[in-house]
Amino acid sequence: MTKEQASKLINDLRIKLNEWAKEYYVLDNPSIDDAEYDKAIHELIDLENQFPDLITPDSITQKVGGIVSDKFEKYTHKYPMLSLGDIFSWDEFLNFNKQVAKVTDTEDNEYTAELKIDGLSISLIYKDGILQNGVTRGDGKIGENVTNNVKTIKSIPLCIPSKDEIEIRGEVFLAKKEFAKINEERLLNGEQIFANPRNAAAGTLRQLDSKIVAERNLDAYLYYYFNETNPEETQIESINQIKKLGLKTNPETKICKTLDEVKAYIEYYTEKRNELDYEIDGIVFKLNDKNLQEEVGYTTKTPKWAIAYKFPAEVKQTKLLDIFPTV
Ligand code: NAD
Repeated sequence: MTKEQASKLINDLRIKLNEWAKEYYVLDNPSIDDAEYDKAIHELIDLENQFPDLITPDSITQKVGGIVSDKFEKYTHKYPMLSLGDIFSWDEFLNFNKQVAKVTDTEDNEYTAELKIDGLSISLIYKDGILQNGVTRGDGKIGENVTNNVKTIKSIPLCIPSKDEIEIRGEVFLAKKEFAKINEERLLNGEQIFANPRNAAAGTLRQLDSKIVAERNLDAYLYYYFNETNPEETQIESINQIKKLGLKTNPETKICKTLDEVKAYIEYYTEKRNELDYEIDGIVFKLNDKNLQEEVGYTTKTPKWAIAYKFPAEVKQTKLLDIFPTV
């Protein structure tokens, strides 16, 4: 392929992907499924890898996906809210681990294994024991201040037993049962139904009317912990600390001390994923030791010490979704 041909393809892919990202992140109304989006973005990454001088800082491959809506007050994140690199096979996990090993000097790395809940990121800022702000990821640097909506989520405490300035991050989601209930009600009211729990959760949290948010039982699992006064040394200690402060953490989280344990976790949840009460689209592996995390470092878009292992796409449209238009 010539550079001119690549440049045209790259341009076309960027236009398409930017349009889809807007539908997904701003309008909460995607027109294509995630597998198709992932295929296109990986085509773009491959082309950019072949022709690195065609990479521009504004390429969608260089940025965290979200766009900040004008509907909400803007909030500048103290620590960037990044995305995650993704992989689709065991061989790719081994490659990821080899990259980590270049820094840690061993391939026997300890990882936390966390289910990748299909919802949307939230950052909770507590000061003097009180929830001050709840903010979406937005473009990773600036998010939307959705504090009033976050305060309606029953599993997010308004007060915690610590006076430190603490930022806790995780995923807001809708359980499958709640999602079905909302769509049944929408059908009865003659409204368009939501395509999936992720869109329903994102559409709900970014609602202007907090009363509507309160009626839809959003839930949240938390997994990142920032406390400069009393920092934790490992990811698993962070999760335990979040739990101690009274927030919900996912009970399926485990420590994997060996590659065999990583593989077993992947196999187990690939099999079990449909039995969970909420949707997941993969598993996130994070290097457990936080000092090592910092040594391994970051790209502009993702931490290099974590990876999302994505499940193969499932064809699982319900009859309702086949028949009725979706939001
Ligand atoms: P991502 O959703 O693949 O991964 C990053 C996110 O994972 C984090 O922001 C966090 O919210 C979430 N997450 C869940 N559990 C986590 C855990 N335990 N630890 C850490 N993070 C956890 O990346 P992205 O950049 O937000 O979005 C890309 C995804 O969005 C792709 O899957 C893509 O298919 C989809 N997308 C789809 C469309 C479409 O039109 N269908 C458009 C844009 C993006």
